[in-house]
Amino acid sequence: MDKFHSSKSVRKNMAEHGLKFQKSLGQNFLTDASVLSQIVAAADLDKDSCVLEIGPGAGALTRELAHVAGKVVSVEIDKNLIPLLTENTAEFSNVTIINEDILRVDLEKLFSEQFGGKAVKVVANLPYYITTPIIMKLLEEKPGIESIVIMIQKEVAERLLAEAGSKAYGAVTVSVNYYAKPSAVCLVPPEAFVPPPKVWSEVLKLDVLDDAPVQLKDETHFFNLVKAAFGQRRKTFLNSASNFPALGASKEDIRKVLLSLGFPETIRGESFSISDFAAISNALLEQN
Ligand code: SAM
Repeated sequence: MDKFHSSKSVRKNMAEHGLKFQKSLGQNFLTDASVLSQIVAAADLDKDSCVLEIGPGAGALTRELAHVAGKVVSVEIDKNLIPLLTENTAEFSNVTIINEDILRVDLEKLFSEQFGGKAVKVVANLPYYITTPIIMKLLEEKPGIESIVIMIQKEVAERLLAEAGSKAYGAVTVSVNYYAKPSAVCLVPPEAFVPPPKVWSEVLKLDVLDDAPVQLKDETHFFNLVKAAFGQRRKTFLNSASNFPALGASKEDIRKVLLSLGFPETIRGESFSISDFAAISNALLEQN
């Protein structure tokens, strides 16, 4: 068995380097060979592929990616892990390790320096404490990412895959689905990691959309409307939106737009699809 596929040998490898798993950095390392293979298969890589890996840890996933991709750039925040990671990936000339916080990286600059502007596939077993900021950074900065295969907490995955009107549906569902089409890859139990986390995980693939799924007059207004709708989910959309100053719309304006689009004025924001939010945003802006 590969030493990266056993909890015991990963623990030993860490101990030999005087390292402890840092809970505060989400250090739960994947040891399950079948899950590693499913992640790599979902990423759909070949020798021309450029891969950004976020949070390589001890390098188990990095190694699998390096076998099939053209180039892998792995960004790891924990400087103490770098010597072990460098050792564990030493046999691969196509791996570059960067010691940095992914949230502080200028992706456009990194991609042009490392990949010469070619399309990039992101693959990551993400630190769960900053899952949403990382996903939103990747999607909002639009630096030429083609797809993102990520391991995240199961409940967060359910939010990204949720249908309008369901309990799990929220602002993050709308935001992510505005930029990408998410699909489920596999569910992952705690035992697949060392140390095992308290929660189940899920691997998702986000296929980044070339064009937005809706036509908007003003993207900022649309996202403010979504924030307003989910900020106070138990209120009607009419009340939440009219108490959201950034929208600059009176209760009467919003009531008129809702009725003109065929929605009852008692409707809650969580019932709206992305197209509904777009129609309301565009109609409010037209009215002003
Ligand atoms: N990829 C490895 C695996 O699958 O076994 C490790 C995954 S572990 C869940 C998350 C990794 O992300 C850790 O190595 C952690 O140190 C790193 N990390 C946490 N915050 C980070 C950040 N802001 N930027 C880059 N890496 C980060």
